[in-house]
Amino acid sequence: MSRDKLKLVTSPNDRFEQIKNEKNYVGQPAYDLIGATVEQLQIKPDESMRPAAFRADPSNPMHFWAHPLTIEAMKKDIFLLGENPENHAQNYECVQCHEQLDRQFWVKCPYCGTRFKL
Ligand SMILES: [Zn+2]
Repeated sequence: MSRDKLKLVTSPNDRFEQIKNEKNYVGQPAYDLIGATVEQLQIKPDESMRPAAFRADPSNPMHFWAHPLTIEAMKKDIFLLGENPENHAQNYECVQCHEQLDRQFWVKCPYCGTRFKL
């Protein structure tokens, strides 16, 4: 995809449509989306959880518990292209608490709540 075709998208559906239309260098679809799924996880607040951690609900694979700050800090829509999200890691050190985190999953620091600097 050439840079001039990139546009700012604001909704998950728009981003998904953009991904579906991306082509690789030989003009073929850039991503194999056959079998792509949309998973909706439910994250429930639990004040006793440590920051940036999730605990699975053994009775429902789509339910997790997390500290309220963790829930507030997490991105609500995450696209995972392929099996290895670490390939898209955006390593970041919080300017306030100096915890290391991967910005691709957060809108602010899940440890202290500080907004990210650019
Ligand atoms: Zn922090």
